[in-house]
Amino acid sequence: MASPQSGPEADDASRVLRRIFGYDTFREGQREIIDHVVAGGDALVLMPTGGGKSLCYQIPALVREGTGVVVSPLIALMQDQVDALRALGVRAGFLNSTQEPDERREVESAFLAGELDLLYLAPERLRAPATLSLLDRGAIALFAIDEAHCVAQWGHDFRPDYLALSALHERWPAVPRIALTATATEATHAEIASRLNLREARHFVASFDRPNIRYRIAPKKEPKRQLLKLLRTEHPGDAGIVYCLSRASVEKIAAFLTENGIEALPYHAGLDARTRAAHQARFLREDGLVMVATIAFGMGIDKPDVRFVAHLDLPKSVEGYYQETGRAGRDGLPSTAWLVYGLQDVVQQRRMIETSEGDDTHRRRLGTHLDAMLALCETVECRRARLLAYFGQQGAASCGNCDTCLSPPETWDGTVAAQKILSTVLRLRRERRQSFGAGQIIDILLGRKTEKVVQHDHAALTVFGIGTELNESEWRGVVRQMLAQGLLAVEGDYGTLSLTDASAEVLARRRQVTLRREPERTARSEPADRTAGPRRTAPADLPEEALPVFERLRAWRAATAREQGLPAYMIFHDATLRQIAAEHPSTLAELGEVSGVGENKLAKYGEQILRELVS
Ligand code: ADP
Ligand code: ZN
Repeated sequence: MASPQSGPEADDASRVLRRIFGYDTFREGQREIIDHVVAGGDALVLMPTGGGKSLCYQIPALVREGTGVVVSPLIALMQDQVDALRALGVRAGFLNSTQEPDERREVESAFLAGELDLLYLAPERLRAPATLSLLDRGAIALFAIDEAHCVAQWGHDFRPDYLALSALHERWPAVPRIALTATATEATHAEIASRLNLREARHFVASFDRPNIRYRIAPKKEPKRQLLKLLRTEHPGDAGIVYCLSRASVEKIAAFLTENGIEALPYHAGLDARTRAAHQARFLREDGLVMVATIAFGMGIDKPDVRFVAHLDLPKSVEGYYQETGRAGRDGLPSTAWLVYGLQDVVQQRRMIETSEGDDTHRRRLGTHLDAMLALCETVECRRARLLAYFGQQGAASCGNCDTCLSPPETWDGTVAAQKILSTVLRLRRERRQSFGAGQIIDILLGRKTEKVVQHDHAALTVFGIGTELNESEWRGVVRQMLAQGLLAVEGDYGTLSLTDASAEVLARRRQVTLRREPERTARSEPADRTAGPRRTAPADLPEEALPVFERLRAWRAATAREQGLPAYMIFHDATLRQIAAEHPSTLAELGEVSGVGENKLAKYGEQILRELVS
């Protein structure tokens, strides 16, 4: 394949970036990928969520002759994707099963007439002979395969349809293909390349850093109160996503937020399709809604102004955590990724793994994923450095924008505390042939004569009451960290504690146990540096006097969005409105210089904006 030079095509790409999208500079990686595909090369692109993957195929589709065919599994979002492109003046359409025949015919004839820049297709369409022959009769600029990890994941709903995409190359050998995913692991990467027949393709791996996201992980004390405090003090009026593990907790938390004056909607697989679609549409369209959801929600949601992603339960893997948190701050403005987790989460997930279906290899893999997630939670080092290292990338040793960098946690020597727990577990097992969960082990250490303790005569144990130097919540923190470090294990239906090989080393004093000091109160779990809260450090932040202007522009945008039935962000992003408010352009030419103001939007909204600015 000819290696792309910075010839006339390259200039075309910059011009499209400025003219259509209104942006001045490419983000990291975009330029190389676009040049390569424009020149006809195949590409496999790994870029984090929010990294800017769409432009990597949209611009080549606009620069090359013919229509860019985009394969995407997200039928529910196709209308929005197409609307967003049309708002930019791009000729886009889609074909999927939700369409009326009339509408379909219209899209098909536009394609055949060469009047479409981009055509979105659900993957199953490409298995239908009718679609293939339609594509044969038109001109194709490229094939973009979005969410390409679908091909690599066992049991993924779309997998069979994605597997069939390997045939595209045989039928259209001259058409470049670009596969894109935000899933970064080496194994997935390799499998996409082989399944989609992309071994000859050039691989582009972008940095997985999302510098505008502040990562914070705190012990779970009173999760509802902790969440409410976060939303009230740091994100009032902001849009965000709250992830919970179960449908029941989704419902509970959504109701709780609503009762407390925060507009929140539930989303999980137990709701019927209509309700789910309605809630998703409201989240996308309205300003400042909170979506409380299971992980069923979020793939393909490209709302740019999600200001926070909160996890009330421990994610099962670092990949999952990274995908979910990546949905915050696509617009590049400061955003929060916040997670609380506690002992119960660890016990529950270990048990779920132990009782999960599948063979030992499968369980071991789940265990490895969980261990990596726990290591991230318990680290005393920079979270971002840890995350990047997980994806095989290197960042600065200290990022300055995560909780451990902003208020470095103290550590303490927990060897003796760990030994007390381990001896209690050991004695109960040896002397009483019994195993207990964390709660009872802690009761015994604290010398509490609870019903169960008395009933089993545990008060007679030599370890009874030997742990009064810590309180219950501190002991729970110790047990949680020991579980995370593999110094304890959980077993069976009741989550009883048991020893591991590493436990013996601690009991024999051959191993020291270093623990993270738990903040005593919730308040102290917040970064100490409160003045550096998300808003105030914003690079694009507003001078005091520009704030009312920004609010006025937002109100104009809300009214315009309602009028046109579009989500507000499709009119302009927050970042664009902020820049307009700060720079106060007085002519259309000046307004056209603002990032995010392309030709089409300038023509459509320019005069209105200038009027808002002088009023
Ligand atoms: P991804 O698909 O990788 O998650 P998107 O393609 O949705 O990310 O892009 C994320 C956001 O970044 C979008 O709102 C998009 O408009 C914006 N964006 C992409 N490229 C640029 C750029 N070069 N300059 C400014 N904003 C960009
Ligand atoms: Zn950091």
